Amino acid sequence: MIDNKYDLIIIGAGASGIMAAASALKHNKTVLVIDNQNAPLRKVRISGGGRCNFTNLDMSADHYISENPHFIKSAIKQFSVYDFLAEMDKNNIPYYEKKLGQIFCKNKSSDIINYLLEQSKAADFSFNTDISSLQKKNNVFEIETSKGCFNSTSVIIATGGISCPKLGVSNFAAETAKNFGMNVIDYSPALVPFRLQNPYIELAGTSLFCKTSIGKKFFYDDMLFTHKGLSGPAILKISSYWSKGISIGIDLLPNANIKQIINQEKYSKSEQAIQSFMKNYFSAKVASWILYQTDIDNKNIKELSNRQIELLYNFIHLFTIKPVADMGYDIAEISKGGIDTKELSSKTFETNKVSGLYFTGEAIDIAGDLGGYNIWFAFASGFIAGKCSCQANL
Ligand SMILES: Cc1cc2nc3c(=O)[nH]c(=O)nc-3n(C[C@H](O)[C@H](O)[C@H](O)COP(=O)(O)OP(=O)(O)OC[C@H]3O[C@@H](n4cnc5c(N)ncnc54)[C@H](O)[C@@H]3O)c2cc1C
Repeated sequence: MIDNKYDLIIIGAGASGIMAAASALKHNKTVLVIDNQNAPLRKVRISGGGRCNFTNLDMSADHYISENPHFIKSAIKQFSVYDFLAEMDKNNIPYYEKKLGQIFCKNKSSDIINYLLEQSKAADFSFNTDISSLQKKNNVFEIETSKGCFNSTSVIIATGGISCPKLGVSNFAAETAKNFGMNVIDYSPALVPFRLQNPYIELAGTSLFCKTSIGKKFFYDDMLFTHKGLSGPAILKISSYWSKGISIGIDLLPNANIKQIINQEKYSKSEQAIQSFMKNYFSAKVASWILYQTDIDNKNIKELSNRQIELLYNFIHLFTIKPVADMGYDIAEISKGGIDTKELSSKTFETNKVSGLYFTGEAIDIAGDLGGYNIWFAFASGFIAGKCSCQANL
């Protein structure tokens, strides 16, 4: 039965909110979780293609974007990736490293969902509940909702970011922060594909391993040509560092130097045609496309002029795109921006201006790279805020 007085009320039953509930319940606190949708952990369910990429073995502040890049360091210290994996082992949740340290559920996201729901089952839940106001009066938070008024000594706001609107996301965290006089960094889509002025439609559906870069930031991973532009992990990762007008460098053959390998072949008096030679490094489709774009006929390698080799080098290693736009919040995996970390304690996630009020997860100006970094931060910040909100009330 739902009461109306709690030690802790958590707004948002996503990755961060449910972890916060599980964490607070360990301290025997009374907890209510409010969500405006009909079920918990809906992003976690669809994450990682249904197998939830929930953390990464290569965990460091370098994998997060924020106005304050140091803010996350305390969370990384407090919530160890290896302790969490040990907890998964203890609960018989199988997982595996797919690539680049990315840890996925071996079966389905439901394994981790069931674990979190078991850990938080002593909380009360109020779904399909809209919040009309949140105020603090005489050291007590009062939350007016479509299902009545609830009071608590602490509140954790874990309502996530604003990407993927079909899941019913909202601006609640940012609006509440502003109501309490806090600064909010503007949101923008991140981990998002690009739209190109002239997409390479002939290659749509083809992927290749490449290096994407903006300034000193770079990623090695797969890129996918689409009907509208470019996608795939190498593009999603670099997209978080992109803003309109900026060009992105793409090395289409990052692990070799085309000039060197062609010259070696040339001097060994190879009789090979360039087209079949290129197929050692690219799919037939991509090889033909590169030769077409560089205007090089399918001639014998030994007949290639230095100018043509230079052309190939520039096209393959110095390929550059200038997206007209990203594909927006509908497609973006996360939103960048959110509650300014200056407003929060990096040790507890409590706000500096309002004691007992916490923000966690994607609602905060911390955006992780692709690869399990965002769910992990949602868990870590939820766990820490859940624990600290209890200690503050002792
Ligand atoms: C398709 C997709 C795949 C992804 N895959 C991965 C992955 O494999 N690995 C990874 O690390 N990250 C992944 N992400 C990102 C990751 O899911 C999010 O960063 C993470 O879920 C954020 O957790 P959160 O708890 O902060 O917010 P959410 O999980 O978004 O939870 C927020 C909760 O708050 C509720 N809420 C919102 N507004 C209100 C309101 N006004 N009142 C009450 N409740 C409200 C929502 O209904 C929701 O339940 C993926 C995202 C998408 C869209």
